[in-house]
Amino acid sequence: MILLSSPLFRMHAAEKKVRAFVRVKPTAHFAQDVIKFGPDNKSIDIYIKKDAKKGVVNNKQTDWSFKLDGVLHNTSQEMTYETVAKKLVSEALTGYNGTIMCYGQTGAGKTYTMTGATAEYKHRGIIPRAVQQVFKAIACSVDSFITVRISYLEIYNETLCDLLSTTTSSGASDMQMAIVDCPQGVYVKGLSIHSVSDEEDALNLLFEGETNRVIAEHSLNKNSSRSHCIFTIYIESRVRVLSDIRCINSKINLIDLAGSERLSKTGSEGRVLKEAAYINKSLSFLEQIIIALADPKREHIPFRQSKLTHVLKDSLGGKCNTVLVANICGEALHVEETLSSLRFATRMKWITTEPVVNVTYDSEETVKTLEKEISLLKQELAMHDSLVNRSLVTYGPLTDVQVAEIKSQIHEYLKGAIDEIDIMNFRQVQEVFKQFKLIVRQQEGEVETRLRSKYILIDKNDFATIAAAQKLGIVDVDYHLLKRQDVQTRPTPVSPKPDEKKKKFMTSSERFKKEGTKSLFSGRDLAAHLPSKSQVVVPTKNLDVKEKARNEDTVKNDAQPSKPISEEISQRPSSPPSKAVAFEQFKEECGSEINRIFKENKSILLARRKRSSTVARRINIIKQEMEDIKKALEAERQERSQQGEYVDEKGRLIIDEKEFLLIMKLKDLKEEYRCSYAELQDLKAEIQYCQHLVDRCRNKLISEFEIWYSESFLIPTYVQNALKPSGNIRPGMIPINRVMCLEEDEQERFERMQEAMLPTGPDSVAFYKAKMKTDQKRTYNRTMSSLKLMHKKPGHITAAGKDRTLPFLHVT
Ligand code: ADP
Ligand code: MG
Repeated sequence: MILLSSPLFRMHAAEKKVRAFVRVKPTAHFAQDVIKFGPDNKSIDIYIKKDAKKGVVNNKQTDWSFKLDGVLHNTSQEMTYETVAKKLVSEALTGYNGTIMCYGQTGAGKTYTMTGATAEYKHRGIIPRAVQQVFKAIACSVDSFITVRISYLEIYNETLCDLLSTTTSSGASDMQMAIVDCPQGVYVKGLSIHSVSDEEDALNLLFEGETNRVIAEHSLNKNSSRSHCIFTIYIESRVRVLSDIRCINSKINLIDLAGSERLSKTGSEGRVLKEAAYINKSLSFLEQIIIALADPKREHIPFRQSKLTHVLKDSLGGKCNTVLVANICGEALHVEETLSSLRFATRMKWITTEPVVNVTYDSEETVKTLEKEISLLKQELAMHDSLVNRSLVTYGPLTDVQVAEIKSQIHEYLKGAIDEIDIMNFRQVQEVFKQFKLIVRQQEGEVETRLRSKYILIDKNDFATIAAAQKLGIVDVDYHLLKRQDVQTRPTPVSPKPDEKKKKFMTSSERFKKEGTKSLFSGRDLAAHLPSKSQVVVPTKNLDVKEKARNEDTVKNDAQPSKPISEEISQRPSSPPSKAVAFEQFKEECGSEINRIFKENKSILLARRKRSSTVARRINIIKQEMEDIKKALEAERQERSQQGEYVDEKGRLIIDEKEFLLIMKLKDLKEEYRCSYAELQDLKAEIQYCQHLVDRCRNKLISEFEIWYSESFLIPTYVQNALKPSGNIRPGMIPINRVMCLEEDEQERFERMQEAMLPTGPDSVAFYKAKMKTDQKRTYNRTMSSLKLMHKKPGHITAAGKDRTLPFLHVT
C-alpha cells in the first residue's frame, strides 16, 4: 500500500501562501494594448476596449489588475524551472510535499511548461528537470539512503488511467483503481508505482507515459488534451540517527491540468465578463475547492466531488508547498480565457498553507538494518580470518570460561610468566583492559590500606592538620615529607613535643641543608612522587626505604605471596609503585652506579665542607687569639713606658720575657692564620667544584630514574614492542583488497568519454538515452500495431516489447 500522504511527525513551518505565476506563451500577435505587465514583473493588467459591435456593455468593468508571484514572459524553460519549481523540489528532498499545477486554456503551454518539448534537451520542462534535481541531490547526499519512485496517473472524464500500468489486460482502467481515503491520507489503490534507480529510468517512465496519454482532438490544437495528468515523484530518504532509522517521505505532484476553456466561445460573445462553464467538469469542482480553501470560515471542503479534487485532497495547499502556473496566450482573441486563468491564479494565492516535514522513525527497519549490517560484518570478519588462518576465532560475547582464561592470562603476564598477551579480537582486548582496571583498583585499595596501617595520611586540603604536622616537623612548608633519619618507632598521633620530634625526624631537606646542598627533589617534585596526589604520607613505623617499598609496592596477584621488591618490580607489577619508593629501588638497581658516584661526590663535598668549616673556625680562633695578644702587648708597652724604658748599650729597647713570649706567639699565630686562610681558599675552590659534580650527578640520577620509571611501570610492554619499527601497529592500515578495487572500470571510462562528447554536456545523457529508448519502442510499437490492427479492434492494442499495455495507442 503506497500512501499519497501520511500524517506522521509534523515539523511545523511558518505559514505560507500558495504561489501563483503566470506564463505567457510567445506569439507573433501579442495583444500589447490588452495585456500589460507591471514594472516589477509581478503584476499583469488587462484592458478591454469597449466595443459596441461586440456588445460590450458600457457600464461593465473593462480594466483588471492581477498581482501574482511572477510574470514569466519570454522566459526560458530553465528560468521558468528556477523560478517556479527549484525551491519546491529541494524542499521535497527534506520532507515537504509539493504540488505544481499548470492551469490554462488548451494550447497555452501547460504541457510545454510541465513536460516540455521532448525533441530538445534545453526545451525540457519541469518534470525532467525535477527528476534531474532529485537525482543530483541523491548523488551528493552521503549520509542518507534515498529511494525514488514514480507514478503517472491520468484522469479522463472521471476515469482513472495508470499511464505506467504493467498489467496485461487492456489498460489499467478505472475498474482496478480507486481513490481511497485513510487516516494516513489519500492514495490511489491499484496505481502502479515504479522504483527508479537513476534519472534515465525515471525519464523512460515519463516518455512512456507521454506516449500513452489520452489525447483528444480539439479544434484549437491537435495536441490539446482534455485529461488531467499527474506525474508523481515519491522520495523516501532514510537517515541513520544513532541507532534509529529516520524516514523522511515526501512526494512531488506535477500536474498538467486539462484545458480550462469554457463551453462555447461564441456563447460568451456579448457577455465577456460572465463566466462560462468549464468544458471539463472537474475543473469547476477544482475551482470550488480553491474558493473553499481560501475561505478560513469554511469547514467542509467538498474534495470528493470529483476524481481530480479527491486525488488532490492532500496536495492542495494545507500541509504542502503549492505552486500554480497559469498559462495564457498573449493574443487578443483569447482574452476571455486569459482573464479567467488570471482569476483562477489569484484565487489560488488566497490559500494559506502550512507545510510540514513528514518524518517517521522506523524501529522495525532499524533493527532489520542493524541485523543486516551485523551479519555483513560477521561475514567480512570470517573472510578476513580465513585469509589469515584464524578460523578458530569467535566474535560472540565472551563466556565465563573465556573471561576466567583472560584473567589468569593477565596474572601470568603480571608475574612475568608470559611476555605477551596475544590480541585475538576486540572483545578480548576490552576484557583485558577491564581486568587490568580491576587489578589496579584492587591494588590501589590494598596500597592505601597498607599505607594507612603504617602512616597517617593527611589530606592536602586539611590545612589545620598540615599546619600541626609542619609544627611537629613532619612535613616542611612545601608539604615536603620530612624523612625519618634515625630509627625510631613513633606511635600516632605524634607526641606533642615538637622540639624533640624535630630532632628525631631528620628530614631529607634538613639533611641536605645540613650537608650544604639542595634537596634532591623540590617540594613540587616530591608532591608528584608521593603515593597520592592529595595526601601527605607521614611514616609512623620504623621502616627503612626498602621495607617501605616492599610494603607499598606489593603487587599481589590473587594467590601470590609477596616477594622482595626487586623481584616484584622486575616482573612488572600491575600498579606502579609510588615514585618515592621506586626511586629507592632504582638507586639500588639500574641507577646504582650513578648513585654510587653521586654519593661519593657528595661525601667528598661533605668532607670538604666539614674541613672548610673547621678551618674557618680555626681561623676565627686564631684571629681572636691574635687580638688578645695584641691587646696584651699593648698593655705591656704602656706599662713599660710609664715605668721608663730600658735600653742596652747599643740603645736597643729591652723588653721583658713575658712581652717577648707574647710577640713570639703572635708571630706564630700570624703564620698559622696565613696557612689556614690559604687552606680555606683552596677548600672553597674544591667545594665549588664538588658542588657542581654533585648537581650534575643528581640531575642525571633523576632523569635516568624518570625514564626507567616510565618504561618499567607506565608504558605497557606490548605497546613498547608494538611501537618499535618492527611492531604490528601502524596507523591508517588499509586492506590491500580495498585499495585494489578502487581501479576505474572500463565501462565507467567509456561512459565518461561518451558524456563528455555530448554537445549539451554530461547532464543531458539520461535525457537523450531515455528519449532514444522511447523512440525505438515507439517505432517498434508502430510497426507492430499496424500489423495487429488488421486483427484487433482499434484502441486496444497490446504494447509489444514489454508486458505493459496501452489503453489507447496514438499513432502520429
Ligand atoms: P497545452 O498543453 O496548454 O495545451 P502546449 O504545451 O501543448 O499547450 O503548447 C501548445 C504549443 O505551443 C506547443 O507546440 C508548444 O511547443 C508551444 N508552446 C507553448 N508554450 C511555449 C513557450 N513558452 N515557448 C515556446 N513554445 C511554446
Ligand atoms: Mg497539453
